[in-house]
This record gives sequence, C-alpha cells and structure tokens, in this order.
Amino acid sequence: MNYDELETLPISRNTFYNLDIFKNVQFEKLAGFLLSCSTEIVEPGTKLIYPELENQRLIILLEGLLEVKLESQGGEFTDTIKPGHCAGEMSIFDDIKPSATVSAKEKSKLLIIPADVATVMVHASHQLCLNFLHILSQRLRNNNKVVCEEQYHIRCMEEFAKIDPMTGLHNRRWLEEMYTREINRSNIGNFSLTAFMIDVDHFKNVNDTYGHLAGDQVLISVARTLVHSLRPSDMPVRYGGEEFTVFLPGTTTKNAKVIAERIRSNMENMSVVLPDGNVIPVTVSIGFAERVDGDTVASLIERADQAVYQAKENGRNRVCQNLGGGKFNLL
Ligand code: GH3
Ligand code: MG
Ligand code: MG
Repeated sequence: MNYDELETLPISRNTFYNLDIFKNVQFEKLAGFLLSCSTEIVEPGTKLIYPELENQRLIILLEGLLEVKLESQGGEFTDTIKPGHCAGEMSIFDDIKPSATVSAKEKSKLLIIPADVATVMVHASHQLCLNFLHILSQRLRNNNKVVCEEQYHIRCMEEFAKIDPMTGLHNRRWLEEMYTREINRSNIGNFSLTAFMIDVDHFKNVNDTYGHLAGDQVLISVARTLVHSLRPSDMPVRYGGEEFTVFLPGTTTKNAKVIAERIRSNMENMSVVLPDGNVIPVTVSIGFAERVDGDTVASLIERADQAVYQAKENGRNRVCQNLGGGKFNLL
C-alpha cells in the first residue's frame, strides 16, 4: 500500500492497533480492505441497529458510547458498548435480523465495515477470526447470565406470590399446589395425614373493639404462635381472613389431638399487647379430620371445617374431631 492510499484510509495505523477487534492483527494484512470502509459521526439517539433492519454492516465504535437494548417478555436489558468494541457482528455472520436495538448514547464516531468486506477480512486473518470468536463468546456468556438472572427473578416472584404478606404464612395459591401433592402422596402410600382448620373466635369483636390494625396484629400473633406450636414438616396456611389450615403429614388422630390442644392452649395463653397497653384476649376453635381413602384436598378440609362449626356451636375455644359419618368428638 503506497503513501497516498494510506492517507485515504478511514483510520490510522495507531487507531487500528488500539481497537480490541484488531488485537494482534497485522495492520498490513487488512489495510487494503479498510479502503472499502468509512467512518461516520452520529448524534446521541441515532438508531444504528434494530430488529426491523436487515443489518449489512459491522460497526466498530471509535469514540463515544453506544447503548444496547434487548426487550423480552421478562423485561428490558440494557448494556453499553465502549470504544474499541463492535456491534452488528452477529447478524452479519448468521444473516438473521438483529435481536437488539443499538443506538448512540453519546455523540459517537464509528468505523463502518460492510458485511462482505468483514467476511473477506476474516478469511484474510486467522487472528481476526479468533478475535471475533472471543467477542461472540463473551456476548453469549453475558446473554446467558442475563437469562439466568431473569429466570431467578421470575422464580422469586412466583414464590413471593404464594406468601401472605401480613402473616408471612403461605397462602391459598401455595395450598392448592402443596396440599394436592401431599394428599396424593398419602393416598398412594396410605400414609396418615391430618388436616386442621383453625378459626379465631369472635374476631369481628376484636376489630370492632380495638380497630382493624389491632385485628391485624392479632392475626400476625396467631400465625406466629401457630408456627411455634408445629413441627417444621407441618404445613400451616393462612386460608383467608381469620382462618388457618394445617396439613400434618404422618400425623394420626392420637397425635393430632395433642397438637390441636397444644395450639388451642398456646393461643389462649399468648398475649397480644397493644401500644396503649391494652391486652387483647384471643382464643381459637380448632376442627380436625384424618384422611380417608379417596379424600381430596377439598373433602378433607371440608370435614375439618365441619368440626370447627361443632367447636363453635359448643362454646368456642375448643378442639373437635370429625369422626366421619356425621359424628364428632369434642375434646
Ligand atoms: P366466630 O367466633 O364465629 O368465628 O366469629 P368471628 O367474628 O370470628 O367471625 P366472622 O366471620 O363473623 O368475622 C370475621 C372477621 O374477620 C370479619 C372480617 O372483617 C375480619 N377480617 C378478615 N380478614 C381480616 C384481616 O386481614 N384483618 C382484620 N383486621 N380483620 C379481618
Ligand atoms: Mg371464620
Ligand atoms: Mg372467627
């Protein structure tokens, strides 16, 4: 290449050696191809690559800053491209329309290499080919990281949606999934399983007497006492309002009576103290039923609920077992 030609190149030898994409590439090997390239100055906001565009050029950022925006159903991911790095390399090699939008974040100077010139440059230099592989690998790793983080975020949100924010207990959404799994497991293996329904007594009076916020405080305390009265394998749920359910896997009637009585007595003995010093007395009524063959989540909870009704009818602050066949055992 003679001096005149060197003068007409879009970038100088020094600039060439400072660009990551040309790292360790001999200038002389590619200088001839650079004659077919050009530079361009773009204003902030200029869209350079976008999904609707059939991209036919490799863009190398010489000065300024570019922004990459990737939009998906999961949200928006943004990244930046700094001087020395490139954009458009994927679509010029796989001939697929761009999957992201690249625009100038600042006033930027670009080296534009037409796609066909980029291809012959890669043929001319193994090192350039390696540099491209390096860049593509980094892009892939980065994209994988974003996908994994997005998945993790989605999983967290799904778990979050199964928790009652006030008491911290699981809610009905969780119940549907986990209780169904548990009852299927117990039905198949013929394991014991007992369901509790727990209903706070005269809770409406608590709201009416002390206010709704105090009522909330009672529910939080009830949930805490409930958890402390159970084993880690038991499955407490805020069923709705002032009603709580528990599935106790592996628990027979004999143990269920002891546990239910423990919960009832712990609730009676707990003290919910309001900021003004008022102490709210709390009692609960508990109904329980043991799984029988063919039970569903709904049928087992329904029997526990019938037992709660009996406990309420018989004075509240009581435990009642549904024996089946319309028979109840008041404890
Ligand atoms: P019983 O002894 O027969 O169960 O009477 P009860 O007053 O506890 O039952 P009832 O179903 O008449 O009233 C339940 C009340 O619980 C009515 C509702 O306003 C209140 N409630 C439901 N959810 C919440 C909540 O999240 N916070 C508060 N503070 N109150 C709630
Ligand atoms: Mg109720
Ligand atoms: Mg109630």
